[in-house]
Amino acid sequence: MLADCHMHMILDGVYYRAAIDHQREEPDEALIRSRLAAYRGAGIAFLRDGGDAWGVGAYAAKLAPEYGIDYRTPVFPIHHRGRYGGFIGRGYDTLAEYAALVAEAKAAGANFIKIMISGLMDFDRFGVITSSPLPPEEIAELIRIAHGEGFHVMAHANGAETVRAAAEAGVDSVEHGAYLDEEALAAMAENGAIWTPTISTVGNLIGEGRYPDAVLKPLFELQAENIRRFSAMGGTVAPGSDAGAYAVPHVQGALDEYRYLAEILGEGAEAKLAAGVAEIARRF
Ligand SMILES: [Zn+2]
Repeated sequence: MLADCHMHMILDGVYYRAAIDHQREEPDEALIRSRLAAYRGAGIAFLRDGGDAWGVGAYAAKLAPEYGIDYRTPVFPIHHRGRYGGFIGRGYDTLAEYAALVAEAKAAGANFIKIMISGLMDFDRFGVITSSPLPPEEIAELIRIAHGEGFHVMAHANGAETVRAAAEAGVDSVEHGAYLDEEALAAMAENGAIWTPTISTVGNLIGEGRYPDAVLKPLFELQAENIRRFSAMGGTVAPGSDAGAYAVPHVQGALDEYRYLAEILGEGAEAKLAAGVAEIARRF
């Protein structure tokens, strides 16, 4: 069974604003059904959505069993207001508001909690992450509160310090994880955080023309090297493409992610990725 452990049903791989506007009023059932059928047709039977504030992923989760797809959703992702995540999720200012959002996600049938704790890779500038990350104490509180409600936690996180803080606080999966160092990788491996490196979001941009290859290529190589180091430490890697993100189409993104990770991990890649999917399915 193939999987995409990080995808966004609401997005289209082209332009996020238009894709969101299209389903802002209500989910486009025909579009969602066509995407689910395409996943199923490609043999992809497990999907973990990153969530959205308009209920599109949650709606897809209700239809997915008709297609033989096991579909996991956080309903909506949660971010600290003013930091990264406002375009797709729900925001809080205080931890009490965060706890209320966790309760709301639970009432809406969330399978897990998704938090945004850093910005994005800046594809124009190597080494730069957009937006400032949350402080380690706040990251730990977010994870503690969600765990206290019986949820596992998927964290959008880039940067070594942010990821180390999340891993030490017991985060269940780290998404993207750009610019990690030895300490961050070790913290993830030691604390059992699964890593979903979403390398398609970088690999599919190389040679595409929108961003400089002089930034993309070293970024890809660094991520590839870190995936190998993490795996050598005994860390669990999961295939998740971030399908719906720019240049990462639904279905094809999942297949691209498997191809990149197979090349990077080399011998034994298939079994390692299958173990990653099984662990994601078990926790989330
Ligand atoms: Zn994503």
